[in-house]
Amino acid sequence: MVVVFEHLAGRVWLCPGDPEPEWVQAGVAVIADERGSVVVDAGQSPSHARELQAAMRTAGLPAPRWLVYTHHHWDHVWGACAWPDVEIVGHVSGAELLRAEADRPWSTRYLREEIRRNRRLGPSFRARALAVDSWDELRVLPPTRVFTDELELPTGVLVRHVGGRHAPDSTIVVVPDSGVMLLGDSWYPPPAHLRTPADEPDLALVGRLLDDDIGWYVSSHSPPMTLDEARAAIAG
Ligand SMILES: [Zn+2]
Repeated sequence: MVVVFEHLAGRVWLCPGDPEPEWVQAGVAVIADERGSVVVDAGQSPSHARELQAAMRTAGLPAPRWLVYTHHHWDHVWGACAWPDVEIVGHVSGAELLRAEADRPWSTRYLREEIRRNRRLGPSFRARALAVDSWDELRVLPPTRVFTDELELPTGVLVRHVGGRHAPDSTIVVVPDSGVMLLGDSWYPPPAHLRTPADEPDLALVGRLLDDDIGWYVSSHSPPMTLDEARAAIAG
């Protein structure tokens, strides 16, 4: 999978994740700005983060100054330790969860033991083992700037908590001048090891977020949708 940023709309650029679900690789967005770009989600590992940085340089995007977490899941945050000189923005409830994640003794041996203890962790934990080249390098970083409801970054990027079933700290990022809303994983069912047969995609959550002034809706593990496509998807 080649790591490349493609222009979506206005000043928003996207690097899609790997379409193969087994890799559990989330897409990453950049809101370009000469005052400092905003990067939305960190990549799934330090090496993935470095590939993203090289792809930003190739695309000519200004250096990042803020890194926003859409939520605390590993595939969105494990690259954070490889982004130098950024303020990490995340919801207050995710900060608490990430402090606990940071204390776990991540290694291939630990992943193996955890999968033995709970088979349902297998897909996620095997993907982590594939993603991380060096466990010595990995640091799980809680946000350095937390918010509770909504935050506006100095470059006009809005960061808004929506919560939901996928993760309590699910956060969306809105770029009004570009007509783009980044949804993260907010409407997906909970992760596999926490999912029940009754869990469905939360289309009602997306329905509440749709906005006539926003033309693009971007989820972390799906291709971007136009407003019309998002409306059609919700209507089923
Ligand atoms: Zn997630």
